[in-house]
Amino acid sequence: MTEPETTCKGFEVNHLVKQYANADKPVLDDISFKVEHGSVLVVLGPSGSGKSTLLRTIAGLEPIQGGTISINNQVIDAGKPGTERAGRSDRSSELRTRIGMVFQSYDLFPNKTVLGNITMAPVLVQKRDKSEVEAEAIRLLGRVGLADRKDSWPHELSGGQRQRVAICRALILHPEVLLLDEITAALDPEMVREVLDVVLELAKSGQTMLIVTHEMQFARAIADHIILLDGGRIVEESYDAQAFFEHPQTERAQQFLHTFE
Ligand code: ADP
Ligand code: MG
Repeated sequence: MTEPETTCKGFEVNHLVKQYANADKPVLDDISFKVEHGSVLVVLGPSGSGKSTLLRTIAGLEPIQGGTISINNQVIDAGKPGTERAGRSDRSSELRTRIGMVFQSYDLFPNKTVLGNITMAPVLVQKRDKSEVEAEAIRLLGRVGLADRKDSWPHELSGGQRQRVAICRALILHPEVLLLDEITAALDPEMVREVLDVVLELAKSGQTMLIVTHEMQFARAIADHIILLDGGRIVEESYDAQAFFEHPQTERAQQFLHTFE
């Protein structure tokens, strides 16, 4: 190995390049970072900087054109030039379940109950025993404060409740890494807290996570590690959230943080 520093228990991205079809330059350009097992990376950056694209490529929802994505030193995806078209990477569904994702929009299946939403993938994709999966789903619902809502339909829930169900739906697959893309951005302010509290609890329980958020107090409280993206590149990286927020090193980070004051 020429790069011994790439050894990592956890999750790792090396020299990742992503370019959309017909774009004249990459939207992610040589991105590298590591997320130690059990730690939380917060990804910050202005609109259009490539945050969602980064999470979608990691989730296997978009092919990459260069670099690698690895879990526990095992490469799960490697870039292939000439695969610019949108669409899934060719990662197997088994590899895909090692990474869970929750999006900004509540994407629950409207024609399934809360329990049906959570149990569908483990039963159909992972072929797990239905009664065992239902018991776990009920435990997860208890953990996010929704023990009494297993038979509700998505339209009967508030936005904050739907996002908590979406978190359970991701967790039941036991992802090694959980990706959260602005999961409170579409919520009314009074529901933001109930969702962020669930995420803080997950962090305490040791769930490895990559979180995109514009909630700066939350970012500061939860981050073990921060990257700031701009124009598809990492412009600042810090393993000390307090130092990052109080004394950002680059002018770009200073400007970015000013917009939240
Ligand atoms: P962020 O989440 O930081 O706002 P995105 O990852 O959504 O940024 O977008 C980064 C850039 O990639 C933007 O310029 C956006 O217009 C472009 N982009 C996003 N999705 C697509 C797509 N499916 N096809 C082409 N360009 C896209
Ligand atoms: Mg986005």
